[in-house]
Amino acid sequence: MIKLERETKPDYLSDEKVFELTESFKATKKSVWNHDHIKIPLLRSSHSKCAYCECPLTSASNYMEVEHFEDKNHYPEKVVLWENLLPSCKKCNGAKGQHDVIGDPIINPYVEDPKNHLSMRLYRFRAKSDKGQSTIEVTQLNSSDRSVFCRYEIGEKISEMIDLGFERWNEYLVRNNTRSKNKLVNLVQGLLNECQPTSSYSASTATNLLTDPKFIELMSLMREADIVSEELDDLILKASTLVLDYV
Ligand SMILES: [Zn+2]
Repeated sequence: MIKLERETKPDYLSDEKVFELTESFKATKKSVWNHDHIKIPLLRSSHSKCAYCECPLTSASNYMEVEHFEDKNHYPEKVVLWENLLPSCKKCNGAKGQHDVIGDPIINPYVEDPKNHLSMRLYRFRAKSDKGQSTIEVTQLNSSDRSVFCRYEIGEKISEMIDLGFERWNEYLVRNNTRSKNKLVNLVQGLLNECQPTSSYSASTATNLLTDPKFIELMSLMREADIVSEELDDLILKASTLVLDYV
């Protein structure tokens, strides 16, 4: 889970429209939020990922649902209130169900930075606060059969890539030419691209990469050799904003 920025309210959700849709929901209990004018800006703001588990919402099995942070059964008047809507995968939305976030608060990633409430150990989130613990339990952030396994798979690939990075570093030391330097820099750039807010499971990947002693050593060697470009530094900076405390 990473901090997200909410876009401005879509024109579609005018006061009149919100009133009309809310009354319609109260009367019929039917879905009134499944509209592209709502879904597209939500997806854009979360980089097409679930706001909770960061799974990609573009694949068929993870199709997007409009999640009501304050659930629509307890708070029907907020059923199309822009600030109450999040893009979510079916599983997180289903796990959260009718959980009342007023009685038992969880993290709203559009409102506060999850880093303040969550830390990480291997591929599992740990709680730094009661709200963090509630978030993990309510949205099943550590569900082994989906989130943990996906984070682990990416983490394993990253570990292999770091090993390959060292091979390329040694090759660069021997050859000391542009081609070998570019091969190394491209590999590190590929690793850092996986740790950007636009990438799936980026909080986990960024935390695991940027706290990995081997990656830290590789970056330090590259820095000493003066082959860390501005572009790489920008990627490191962006990724570091997502890093959770590693415990
Ligand atoms: Zn999810």
